[in-house]
This record gives sequence, structure tokens and C-alpha cells, in this order.
Amino acid sequence: MGLGKDFRLPLDARPVRYAAHLAPDLDAGTFEGRLELEVRLGKPRRDLTLHALDLEVERARVRAGGKTVRVSRIEPDAESETVALCFDEEVPAGTAVVDLAWRGKFSPGLRGLYRAGPVAVTQFEAADARRVFPCFDEPAFKARWNIQLLQVPKGAAAISNGRLAKDEPGDEGRRTITFTETPPLSSYLIALVVGELSESDAAVVRGVSIRTWSVPAKRHLTAFAQECAAAVLPLLEDYFGQPYAYGKLDQIGVPDFEAGAMENAGAITFREVALLLDPKTAPLNVQKRVAEVITHELAHQWFGNLVTMVWWDDLWLNEAFATWMAYKTVDVWKPRWRVWTDFEAGKGAALHLDALKSSHAIRAEVKNAQEAGESFDAITYEKGGAILRMIESYLGEERFREGIRLYMRQHREANATADDLWGALAESSGQPIIELANGWIRQVGYPLVTVSQRGGKLVLRQRRFFSDPEAREAGPPTRWLAPIVLRYRDEGGLREQRELLGGEEREISLGTRGELAYCLANAGARGFYRVAYEGPLLQRLIEALPELASEERMTLVSDQWALVRAAALPVDGFLRLLEGTSRQETDHSVLDEVISRFSWIEHRGVSDADRPALHSWIRRLFAPAASELGWDAREGEDDERRLRRAAVLRALALVARDPRSIEEAQERFHGSIAPQPRPLDPNLLDVVVAAAARTADRARFAELRRRAEEELDPAAKRRFLHALAMVEHPDLVPEAVELSLSDVVRMQDFPAYVGTLLANRVARELAWAMVRERWPDVHKKADSPMLLRRLVEALGSLPERRHLQQVEAFLAAHPIEGARQAIAQTLERLRMDVALRERLVPEVGAFLRG
Ligand SMILES: [Zn+2]
Repeated sequence: MGLGKDFRLPLDARPVRYAAHLAPDLDAGTFEGRLELEVRLGKPRRDLTLHALDLEVERARVRAGGKTVRVSRIEPDAESETVALCFDEEVPAGTAVVDLAWRGKFSPGLRGLYRAGPVAVTQFEAADARRVFPCFDEPAFKARWNIQLLQVPKGAAAISNGRLAKDEPGDEGRRTITFTETPPLSSYLIALVVGELSESDAAVVRGVSIRTWSVPAKRHLTAFAQECAAAVLPLLEDYFGQPYAYGKLDQIGVPDFEAGAMENAGAITFREVALLLDPKTAPLNVQKRVAEVITHELAHQWFGNLVTMVWWDDLWLNEAFATWMAYKTVDVWKPRWRVWTDFEAGKGAALHLDALKSSHAIRAEVKNAQEAGESFDAITYEKGGAILRMIESYLGEERFREGIRLYMRQHREANATADDLWGALAESSGQPIIELANGWIRQVGYPLVTVSQRGGKLVLRQRRFFSDPEAREAGPPTRWLAPIVLRYRDEGGLREQRELLGGEEREISLGTRGELAYCLANAGARGFYRVAYEGPLLQRLIEALPELASEERMTLVSDQWALVRAAALPVDGFLRLLEGTSRQETDHSVLDEVISRFSWIEHRGVSDADRPALHSWIRRLFAPAASELGWDAREGEDDERRLRRAAVLRALALVARDPRSIEEAQERFHGSIAPQPRPLDPNLLDVVVAAAARTADRARFAELRRRAEEELDPAAKRRFLHALAMVEHPDLVPEAVELSLSDVVRMQDFPAYVGTLLANRVARELAWAMVRERWPDVHKKADSPMLLRRLVEALGSLPERRHLQQVEAFLAAHPIEGARQAIAQTLERLRMDVALRERLVPEVGAFLRG
């Protein structure tokens, strides 16, 4: 046959209802399935094509128009991942029921149906339902699912999208479990989990029963997830104006999991670290991250599950919304956490990625399931979320919400496209936003907005921003409709003015009274663009820093660094900005931004000879704050001060390698793991463990390893695991590298572990040699496209030109399926970072000696 990789199912045969029976054998790693599939045929036909991959379809027949038609041939097609059923005679238009039976195997990577410790679990997005069920495996085909599990071992838990309807004895002491029928769902949202799991007590909120599941030893870590889901579910119902549609909610911590979590309707699966935590020892950033992931997946129950994209080119309708909605909702639940400042950090990563020539539009052509997989990146999530936030700010919160509610009412239980959304927003707001929105969704990149003064006027200009100083647009220049919020101070006080920049240049009268003290061009930091200030405007803004909001200060630092990278600003001016900010800044999120820039420069922007001078400079900058904050939290101290302390000690112990701070960190480490632990603020754990790991001897390395293997709290376990990759003792580095391929590092953690090794100055050559020389083992350990993409991205931290050449040669010799974009982006980023390093090293050296 040969339908080809880009084959899509025709729309004139549609599934209505699946009645699927699956008998998994957890020990053998195989399954048998049976299915009665009700379809509506738009025309009479002699054959029917379904998706199926690595399934052995053994038997099929069709019932229609009161008779049974034999299937004479069953033709699998590996390239299109389908199976064609050829009928003996024509089946009339209308309803038909297809009966199928098949066998299959558990998948080796973390997708399809696979084993994760004591659990068998499914992961179907984007297109792996076809590895378990013959089905219409595209998002446009929504149908009701009735699932029955056979051969379930005694004592094992069994979870799916529907509620438990029946639990009956089956053969040989095994059980047959039947779940209730689901509302219409796309196949990628179906889930099955079977195995040794314990459940929390149920919380019932507005009639929805919520449970959190984990392997039995971790049941005590489920309370926070329960509390969070119970708090945010009503907030989401109220926002969308639609009740939660799936009756019950199960949240399941899976011991080995490819993504962060998966929003399967009513049966959400998570990496353990994104769900389970011990509130007594979890740093605030871990709590925030878990809350954000839980809320993101819950937001998908509306955006994605209730209203689903027609095709993967609108994946952003799922992911951008869930990203934005998670921050918005957690901010309502826990305003003290100020999660929008965390959102800014994610937006910074998206701005960085989107400044590459090899970036892509939020809504881009997707030809097949493999390309759909490549879209799960910072452009789809963080840029998409930031664009929604910008549009919300432009339309106003109320009108935006009305548009979302209208969209939900119009398309519930069905599919929709981007234009349906813009239509609903335009209808509710009365504003023509389609052109504005499509400019941001369909065009690649974003503008650099330049602000200058001409006479008494302000001049705004835009052009596409590239990180690469040499890059230029090939065709006609891209233009965006950019909502600009100006805030300025003059003798009349503080004022705000909103403008829409559409063409290349716009001249604006501010109507200032007297002298313009300063003018900020991205007030509120809602705009997805960079801003460059010309003439005296930048200096005036720096002098006014204390008057800006924290997000605005973060954005200013982030924009200036981007301009340094693009060779549009000299580095010494930027180092002065970091210096001034380090001395006076008290907000931890701005400090984190500043310290991350120091960390980059320390890692790859300075020569070995100049590094000690950089260290002592950073030490001098942060010493006063460190002595004011100390190491111990005072009774009743607020989160902000604790997080500021964590930031400052990170700068000293990890970036500046201050011997006294490292000494103290080691003592605190030993105190924290003693039989009678000495109290330590959990927010300091990352710094303390990392500092102790770098200086570890053999005994401490053994202790870290023991902890990495035995720790139950997933965040603690991950911290100890990564600590192993941070060791710098030459005798221990080979062991740390070797561990990556052992069972100590699970598949899900492998790319990040290798990433930590590659970022370790002492371990990086050995780790990079392992990737090259043992590629078959490495590839097998990252056995899914998403993990391979993460692994490719980790190569981006190699600093030198010879590394770049090696990476180019290696990736050319070892093509990786499903990582086309990740490879292009990593290589472009690496080329720029290597060139940047060569440019910065002498300049930073001159600054430090000057
Ligand atoms: Zn998502």
C-alpha cells in the first residue's frame, strides 16, 4: 500500500463510540485487545483505514444494515502507521460496527503502554494510542470510550478516564474492571494505569471526587497535590463558566515519565517530582512548580479536552492556554507567591529561543505526528502563553474572559481552530483583534522596539530581533502590531500612555510637562518584545530603577543582556548594570535574573586566568547582603527574605566560589543529614547540596549516591541525583559519568543528568566522550523523541569552538528522528555562544583589570 508518513485519515468515516477490552500481562509485557467500534460512514465503502502501530490485528468483521460483512484482508502499513480493513462487499453509508481483535507488546520507551517500576501506564500524546488500540488517532476524531480491563492482578489498582463501574472476579483469581463511558474524547487523551499504587483519601469539591495516587511508599507525599487540586478546580470552573466535565479526577504519580505531566481526561499522569512533595522540607520553588503543573493539567480539562484543536498545528491552543491559565489561577490561589515573576523567567527562555533564525511560528505547518511531537517547546508553551497575556492586557481582563467563555460555549465537546478563538474574542470585545493576533501567532520571531527622542517627540521603531549580530531578514521585513504601554515621569508626575505600533516607525507626542525624567516602553512587562533605549534614555531608566516593578526590572536586565549578545551594546555597560543592581536590589526574582547572567559569564564568558578576579568581584558585590541575611532564618521570617538569602548564597558559594560560604555550606550539609538534623531552611538545600557535591570526597559521594537511591521525596531525590553529576574530584568524575548509564539514573532523568555533567567543567570532556563513543547505549537510554531532543539541547552548554565542530560532525553522522528542530536550534545557539565567548573573554578581562 504505502500511504506515506504524511497520510491523514479521511473525514468521511468518523468514530462515535469505542467499546475496548484490554488484557495486559504485566509480567510478560504483552497485551491482547478486542474492540467494538461504532463508526459513521459518510458514503458506502469497500474498506476502512485505522491507525495501528506494532499491533497484530488478527480478526475483523463489520456489522451494518442488519448484516455482517467479512473482512477478507487486513493490510498493515508501517510507514503511515495504519491498518486497512478490506471488506468482502460494500458496506452502506450510515452506522456500522467494526469488531476487531489484536495482540501487542509493551513499548520500550516511555510511550504507548509501558512499564514504570511496579506500574503499567499509557502515554498517548501526540500519536501513540495507535500502539495499543487500532483507532482514529487524530485529535479531530472525538468519540465516547467504554473501557474494560481484563486479567487485572489481585490487589493492583486500575485507573482510566471513566469512573469505576464494576470490579468483578475473572479467571485465575484475576479481576475484570469496567469503567463508565467517557464524554467525547480524542484518542490522545485516553489513559490506563494498572499496578501497585496507593490512593490518598478523596476530597470532594462541588461533587467532583479528587484522588492522588502514588507508589505505596510515597502515599504520605500526596496531601499537597490534593490541597492544590481542590483549591484550583472551582477557580477554573468559575473562569470558564463551564463545570468540570469528567465526573472524577485522579492524579497519578508515575515512577518513570517522559514529559512533566499529561492531561488525560479525568486521569492525569505526572512525573513524581511534579506531583508529590513533603511540605515540611520542600523549598518554595518546588511547591510553586508542583502547583503550576497541577493547575496547567487541570486547565487542559477545558482547553484541550473539552474544546480540542482540529489538528496539531493548533497545539498552542492547548499549551499556550494551559501555561497562561496556570499562572493566572495559581496567582489567585496564592497571591503571596507572586508567580507572574516566575512566568517572566520562562518568557525570557522563549525570547531567547525565538531570537534564533531557526525558530518557528507558534502556529506552524505540521505535516505528521512526528512533527507534532517537535512542537512541544518554549515557543508553543511560554511564547504562546506570553502572547495571550499580552492580548488579554490589550483587550482588558473582563472582555478577554467573556470571549473565552463564548468560545467554550460554542465549541464544547467539539474541535476548534485559532480563528474560532479570535472570532469569539472579537465578538465579545467588539475589537478587531484578528490581524493583531495572527501577526504574533503566524509570524516567526518578535520585534526589537527602539525608543529615541526627536525634538519634543518620542520615536518608536521596530524590526525583527536576532541574537546573531550578522543575521538579517531575507525577504520583506516582518512587522507586528505591537501593543506598547509607555510609562513616564515628568514634572506633572507619573503617567501612562498606550500606543499600537504597526509600521516601521511611529512618532509620538507625550505631552510632557517640563523635563522627561524617564520613559519605560514595556510597562507591566506584558509585551513580547525587546526594547532598546537610545541616547540618554537608558541611563535615565537605570537611575529610576527603584521606581520600576520587579517584572520591569527583570525585563530590563534581560533585554540589555540580549542586546549585548547581539553586539548592539558593549559588555562593560551591562556589567555596570549588574553591579548596580546587585548592590541595591532586594527582590529575589530580579536577583535570580542577575545571578543567572553572572553564572553564564563565569561559566563561559571569562578566561581561566581572569576567573579569580571575576570571583572576587562578585564576592564583593554580594558580601554586604550575605552578612546582613546570615544563614539562619529568623522566627516568622517572610518568604521573600528567605528566597533573597538563597539567591545571595547561590551567588557566593556556587558562582563566586567563595571559600567561606563553601565551608559553611559543607557544614550545613553534614548537619542536615546527621541523625539529629540541624535545622536548615529548605530554600537553601539546592545551594548546600551543590556546594557539598563539588567538594565531595569518596565518602561524601557514597552518601550522595545512597540518598539519590533511597530518598522518597522526589525533589530531594532529584537534588541528590544531580549532585552526583556535580562532583569535581578527578577520581570521582569517571564514576559520576558511568552512573548515567546505570539503573541509578532512570530514563526520564537521563538527559538532565547528562546536561548537569556537561555543565560541570571537570566532567564535561568525559561526559561528551561518553555520548560520542557509546552512542548506541546512550540512544537506548533516551528511548523517545522527547528525551532525545532534551539530550541534543544539553549539548548546547559545551563552551568552545572545538566542541562546536565536534557536535556538528557528530550530529551530521548520527541523524536523530524527530529532533530536526532541536538540532537546528542547538547548533545555531552553540555557534552564537561560541562566537560570543570569543568576543566577551577579552572584554570581560579588560573590565576586571580596569
Ligand atoms: Zn500542557
